[in-house]
Amino acid sequence: MAEFDFDLFVIGAGSGGVRTARMAAAKGVKVAITEDLYLGGTCVNVGCVPKKLFVYSSHYADDFKEAKGFGWNVGESQFDWPTLRDNKTKEIERLNGIYHNMLVNSGCTLIEGRGVMIDAHTVEVAGVQYSAERILVATGGWPFVPEFPGSEHVISSNEVFFLETFPKRAIVVGGGYIAVEFAGIFAGLGAKTDLLYRGELFLRGFDKEVREFVAQEVAKKEVNLNFNTDIESIEKQADGSLLVTTKDGKTIETDLVMYATGRVPKVEGIGLEQLGVEQAKNGAIVVNNNFQTSVPSVYALGDVIDRVQLTPVALAEGMALVNHLYSEGSADVDYDLIATAVFCQPNIGTVGLSEEQAREQYSGIDVYVSDFRAMKHTLSGSDERTLMKMIVDKATDKVLGVHMVGPDSGEIIQGIAIALKAGATKAVFDSTIGIHPTAAEEFVTMRSATRS
Ligand code: NDP
Repeated sequence: MAEFDFDLFVIGAGSGGVRTARMAAAKGVKVAITEDLYLGGTCVNVGCVPKKLFVYSSHYADDFKEAKGFGWNVGESQFDWPTLRDNKTKEIERLNGIYHNMLVNSGCTLIEGRGVMIDAHTVEVAGVQYSAERILVATGGWPFVPEFPGSEHVISSNEVFFLETFPKRAIVVGGGYIAVEFAGIFAGLGAKTDLLYRGELFLRGFDKEVREFVAQEVAKKEVNLNFNTDIESIEKQADGSLLVTTKDGKTIETDLVMYATGRVPKVEGIGLEQLGVEQAKNGAIVVNNNFQTSVPSVYALGDVIDRVQLTPVALAEGMALVNHLYSEGSADVDYDLIATAVFCQPNIGTVGLSEEQAREQYSGIDVYVSDFRAMKHTLSGSDERTLMKMIVDKATDKVLGVHMVGPDSGEIIQGIAIALKAGATKAVFDSTIGIHPTAAEEFVTMRSATRS
């Protein structure tokens, strides 16, 4: 039998790579992990974590306004970008340290630098070659920005967390998670914000009623929504501002343009082509049910395989792979009923089928919808509304999808997702006693269907 330096060599210390490395090491597997950018990957450094911190910050503008109706006079408030940016960076550095310690303490060998596969069992980092029985590619994804005249002036979600100055005016391009979340952040922090999306209505793939409701609520938060449009060109002006010309001939002057037009698998320069690892058209590494690539000793998971680009999915894939390789268990990951949240304002929480998907897949459904002004806003003066929606299969009474747009809907939908995973029927929801007074209790008190 061949002798290897390591049993498992992981390329990429993001969510999926770190979880796999730690779990494998805990089973006594000899693991090395390499990273050339930052420990924790996108999620910790330029994604979920700093984004959520910015979202918290952006809510204060409304909180200060709304406090008045509850008897508080907060005086004049001012936002200081460097404080938020630098406090965030300190917190991320603390997390980087925790990741470092977790890896080292779990027995993994951490090697800094870019890992390049030389052959099916060898990875080179900074001129040193390491052999391994198995290699795992967990290099994640990278923002995609289309090329057009002036595209060199735009930023992506990689840069937005480190801006020197906070813009007075900002344009966000795209209609997915990142665009909608950052439009809310910019507007909440005081920038005059435009969102530009090429289609009819943003958040394609989400429930249509949810998308329409979010458009209405986001517009109330002073995000100027521009649909059916795209940027033709950007010109940098003498004073540093940007002159944006759209495809429908409008011009907008702004200080910052952020593209959030999807992410692509990060596959360049790691030796995939030389090894003949099969890739999809967009570069994603093709794997079988066991996360094994076309080269049997090379595995891949997380954003780089482009199944579901979410941290908890990468974690689940990593644990399944370790289970399969080192405990003789199955590598199956259940991708059904993955709940997600979009941290726009107000948040979207969603699990299961949209009304449109349910109508396609089932012969009869009942749809329960509740659209109301939350109790808090009776005194706050805000005109923000909350939407709650449940889709039920008429034949079996099984709940097929639950959607919410409102404060904390991510928190609420997580619990609902457990009920759906357990196969809950509408009768189970109905027999559950509510927690009063909450918005969440609406999900157990929706008595008559809005439509069938
Ligand atoms: P998404 O795939 O969600 O959205 C991309 C958006 O960009 C779509 O609206 C798409 O339009 C548009 N687009 C794509 N290409 C172009 C183009 N050439 N010109 C103009 N518009 C274009 O990507 P994001 O970048 O928002 O996020 C990436 C992934 O990260 C998400 O899919 C999600 O999985 C994950 N994520 C999750 C978060 C969470 O869980 N809260 C937060 C942030 C990210 P169209 O719809 O017409 O194709």
